Amino acid sequence: MTTLASGIDLPESPTIGNASVMVACDLDRTLIYSANSMALQCADSSAPSLVVAEVYEGAPLSFMTRAAWNVLERLVHHAVFVPVTTRTVQQFRRVNIPGRDRGYAVTTNGAVLLHDGVPDPAWSKFIHDSVEANCAPLQEVHERLLGPARPPAILRGRVAEDTFVYSIVNREELSADYLEELREWCQERGWTTSLQGRKLYCVPSPVTKEAALAEIRRRQPVDVLLAAGDSRLDAGMLRLADVATRPAHGELHQDGFQRANLSVTSATGIMAGEEILHFAAAHLPALQRALEN
Ligand SMILES: [Mg+2]
Repeated sequence: MTTLASGIDLPESPTIGNASVMVACDLDRTLIYSANSMALQCADSSAPSLVVAEVYEGAPLSFMTRAAWNVLERLVHHAVFVPVTTRTVQQFRRVNIPGRDRGYAVTTNGAVLLHDGVPDPAWSKFIHDSVEANCAPLQEVHERLLGPARPPAILRGRVAEDTFVYSIVNREELSADYLEELREWCQERGWTTSLQGRKLYCVPSPVTKEAALAEIRRRQPVDVLLAAGDSRLDAGMLRLADVATRPAHGELHQDGFQRANLSVTSATGIMAGEEILHFAAAHLPALQRALEN
């Protein structure tokens, strides 16, 4: 018998009785996948049916398997589903998945709390004040990441909602030494770094998914928090959760990230997304029964 952080006794089986469950799920490369990241292992002729989860400038950009979509469509009625993403609000609104505009969502890596699609001004002010008190100014980090002294592997960049900065990088040319120097430089200034696919993020330390998620749990108490994510920006959320899962790909997988309460998918790519939703469903007895019928 395992006792969860919330005081709930977790039986050896994954079922958590009738406890209320919050499912907090990262989006990109955890729940939804671009063509470049879906990494299908099967022959084209036996590929799973896919659903478009994001359209960008009129063309499909992100996908889920149809099976994953079907589980999520039901899951949102059996659990408190919280999408959690580093995307900006605008980028988040392109993602069309069940439960997107219902209840809480976390965007901008935790700087913005959406409730029924509307940003919460009190949370934004709280984050703004903690960043101002604890971190070097955005302009200083922007200059370091994207100024004239940047290496050629840093191609171009963008500021996300006046909160953090990221750059599109050439992974082949990006050296481990540069990444480590940048990480240390940022750490000394109250910032953190994360490399995900072709995007290198520099984010103020108080802007975290787990802080936003803890606030949601404070406002909407649940017995069990289940979280899923693939990158270093998800690590705190996985630590905070009573039950955690991550795909067998991405930054945390490369880091060999493990926790006692963490399970790792057997699948990779978009099939891991499907497995994560089945993992969540296994913790929701009523949903599990509905899926079996
Ligand atoms: Mg991700």
